[in-house]
Amino acid sequence: KVVCVTGASGFIASWIVKFLLQRGYTVRATVRDPGNPKKVSHLANLEGAQERLHLFKADLLEEGSFDSVVEGCHAVFHTASPVRFVVNNPQVELIDPAVKGTLNVLKSCAKSSSVKRVVLTSSISAVAFTGRPKTPETVVDETWFSDPDFCRELELWYTLSKTLAEDAAWKFVNENNIDMIVLNPTMVAGPLLPAEINESVEPILNLINGKPFPNRSFGWVNVKDVAIAHILAYEIASASGRYILSERVIHYSELARTLRQLYPTLQIPDKCEVDEPYMPTYQISTDKAKKDLGIEFTPLEVSVRETVESFREKKILN
Ligand code: NDP
Repeated sequence: KVVCVTGASGFIASWIVKFLLQRGYTVRATVRDPGNPKKVSHLANLEGAQERLHLFKADLLEEGSFDSVVEGCHAVFHTASPVRFVVNNPQVELIDPAVKGTLNVLKSCAKSSSVKRVVLTSSISAVAFTGRPKTPETVVDETWFSDPDFCRELELWYTLSKTLAEDAAWKFVNENNIDMIVLNPTMVAGPLLPAEINESVEPILNLINGKPFPNRSFGWVNVKDVAIAHILAYEIASASGRYILSERVIHYSELARTLRQLYPTLQIPDKCEVDEPYMPTYQISTDKAKKDLGIEFTPLEVSVRETVESFREKKILN
């Protein structure tokens, strides 16, 4: 079967492409710059790529850019969206590509006669930022939707972009009768296939480089589990709605402790950026992903070890 992956050169998408090729699919992969070896050589080197991987140039903000790629595909995995936590112009750098880009891809799907299901990579960002206080007793699940006003108030621009994009996607698919499954991963760690490191593994590199950690608690999940969940969300006909993907919620101090335990010779700081009580952790329910998709989440310690080994392999670390 022929399927499409948007933003194929990215951290998560590269693993989706790798697993799709392993499972025998023909993959149409969209990238912004197919001429840049940094963006595509890791894809071209995947097993099965020569025979079944086809690269297409497409940009989220170019109307109709995805029309010809999507036509003929059974499934579209829409992962492309800017992942940046520091920006100068949130509307231009994050919100427009996330929201207009998602609608652009969905419009191509609506026009196509072949697409049976769309799998959208959303985020826990579109779930957990409601303004409701989170305590160790709080259980975040798929019924939660982040509040755009709360995101604006706290200037959480990436979070806002993912919240608005998922919301716009649900409205569009409901109006246009498109079958869509949404995945909501927490912070993603694990082995890097692309040449460049991405924003979600940077906190791990920062700790290794001795930077004090933020006073934050986040969920973490392995990139391979996220990629497989995308494919299962397409393959399992009875899958529906949203799926949160997370192995564990931890405070950064605990991430630092995990790194110290795994790598006693590294100088991992035991120092928070601010001198205030640690933000509490909370719970994230992944019952739905476990039950419907049969996902078993890789322990965080393994994900952290894989991330660090990957830094070493890529000579980001000695
Ligand atoms: P990456 O930065 O590795 O990948 C993002 C991809 O989006 C890149 O391939 C990038 O293309 C593409 N992209 C960005 N802007 C545009 C544009 N204007 N037109 C076309 N493509 C564009 O990040 P991840 O793999 O981490 O993220 C993939 C998806 O997963 C995103 O939707 C993200 O929001 C979501 N996600 C990520 C999490 C994480 O912790 N990493 C957690 C939860 C969700 P290019 O290579 O050309 O720059």
